[in-house]
Amino acid sequence: MTQPKRSIFQSLSAKIFFRIFVIYFFIASVLTAFQMVDVYVRHKHSFIQKLDVYSSSIERSLALAIWDFDEMRLESISDGVLKIPLVTGVSVRELMLGQAIVQKGQVPGKLGEAGSQNSGSLEVTFSFLEEDIIERPLTIYREGNDKPIAVLTLYSNQAMMIEGVKYSLLIILCSAVLKTLSLWFLFTLVLRRHLVKPLKELTDIVQGVNFGSISSSIIEKHKGEDELTRLSVVFNQMLLRLQEAGDELEDSNSKLNTEIRQKHAVLHEVQDLNDKLEHRVEMRTEELASAHDFMSQLIESIPNPVFYKHSDGDYRVVNEAFKSEFRIDDYNDNDCDKLTDGDFLDESGAAQEDKADAGIMSTREALTYESSLVDSRGNVHELLISKAPLKATSSQYQGVVGMMVNIENRKVLERELRTFATIDGLTGCYNRRYFMEQAQKEVSRGNRHHYLMALLYLDIDLFKHINDENGHHVGDRVLKQFASVCKGVCRDGDIVGRIGGEEFAIMLTHTTFDSAYEVANRLRTIIEGTEMNTRESIKITTSIGVSMVGHGIDLESSIQRADAALYQAKKMGRNRVECYQHIEQKGA
Ligand code: GH3
Ligand code: MG
Ligand code: MG
Repeated sequence: MTQPKRSIFQSLSAKIFFRIFVIYFFIASVLTAFQMVDVYVRHKHSFIQKLDVYSSSIERSLALAIWDFDEMRLESISDGVLKIPLVTGVSVRELMLGQAIVQKGQVPGKLGEAGSQNSGSLEVTFSFLEEDIIERPLTIYREGNDKPIAVLTLYSNQAMMIEGVKYSLLIILCSAVLKTLSLWFLFTLVLRRHLVKPLKELTDIVQGVNFGSISSSIIEKHKGEDELTRLSVVFNQMLLRLQEAGDELEDSNSKLNTEIRQKHAVLHEVQDLNDKLEHRVEMRTEELASAHDFMSQLIESIPNPVFYKHSDGDYRVVNEAFKSEFRIDDYNDNDCDKLTDGDFLDESGAAQEDKADAGIMSTREALTYESSLVDSRGNVHELLISKAPLKATSSQYQGVVGMMVNIENRKVLERELRTFATIDGLTGCYNRRYFMEQAQKEVSRGNRHHYLMALLYLDIDLFKHINDENGHHVGDRVLKQFASVCKGVCRDGDIVGRIGGEEFAIMLTHTTFDSAYEVANRLRTIIEGTEMNTRESIKITTSIGVSMVGHGIDLESSIQRADAALYQAKKMGRNRVECYQHIEQKGA
């Protein structure tokens, strides 16, 4: 790196030297000027005094020569004056004639005005710079008389005067220059030796300080008490402190390096762990994606409707079977996240399901129930629904999961089975078992509410002959019509059952003995008068046994009594109504 070129005044010594030298030069110049002016003024004064002395020395002889009008003597006196080295011209002006009688050497033209000038030394002193010619007039008097007769003027010039003083001035000037040069030299020498050099040494030391071995940079020269020495001492102290600070820094640096190395090691471990974790997360994500796919396929593969309904009422998951069951895709809203019960069920169905789901979520118990859900189009769905609360820890998945099985076929079968189990296939009446069941219920009800019932036992008279004469199928039709007539005579609430081949039983509820007898008779009469609607007109009769039920007489006893009454009716010639009470009374 190149150092910028330094100005001569940039160094400290140069600045000090330049400032001192400028001041010194100014003072020396002023003093020298004063000294030269003084020498010049003194010399000029002496010069003028000399001219005056010369004038005085010839004053007497000149006065005599003028008075005697001796031109020869005037000539010789003026020539003699001109030979004086300082005099460059001489003129004598005769006052009576008013004209110059002598003019020799360098004499200015205006001689007439010269006599009027004052010869004061002060004026001479201050006019030397302007005048080139110096003139010293002297009035000449006749000896023994105070009457002026002439004016003698001696002329000289600056050059003549300066000629006499120039060496003195030169010596003063040279002396001043010599002093200045000496000062320059001495200052340069002293500053270099006592300031520039020590400062340079100090600078070199400071520049060369090696923080690895500060002790080698200690300045060992400690001479005197000057500022440089103090600076060296302070510098040494600073170096020692630096050494201490450097040592501390090195210590902390090594600790820091150790920490950094440890942290690097930890960082590497963390990075390794992170990589492993990322790998595992990647694998886990793939596994989750594959599990998600599997779950989706699994749910979609289930042929029954499966769903997950969030606690806010939205169906979040429904499979294809669910969509197909309720024809969800036919609705405009295909977004299953927004599917609610109200979107595909009628109002009561939606309310029923919401209620069931709320119960499951509050009790946290699974529920299986059959339900006939009516959808928005009015179609009935016979379903077996199994629901359970979703046992997820996250509140995000609070809700109900469930599966539905369409049991419509089973319901039909059940209905058929129930009919088969309860209804007699030929006549449409209750079969024996169901009749007994219903009759027992009614007996229990009557016992609770204290009302009477009557049991009629009917047996078609000589039915075997009908079969024999018309065929079994005709017999069947007769049985069917017989049952129909019985049902027509009975009220709603009365129970009609076929309890044997051509034997029937009727339970009349809320019936007194008389009413029962009357109903039995009416029935017998209607049967007797009814032409059975077969290919050939067939008339049948029936024998009926009547027995009351209730007030301590149970169904079983009542059946036995009615059967006994029927047997009595058969015995008494058929097409009759016999009451057990009558038989009892007769027997008694
Ligand atoms: P009575 O009762 O008057 O003494 O004479 P009966 O001929 O009716 O005698 P019984 O009760 O012994 O005979 C009943 C007959 O009813 C016998 C049987 O062939 C006939 N029978 C029973 N069940 C059916 C049936 O389901 N269909 C037809 N066609 N005949 C039946
Ligand atoms: Mg019979
Ligand atoms: Mg019979």
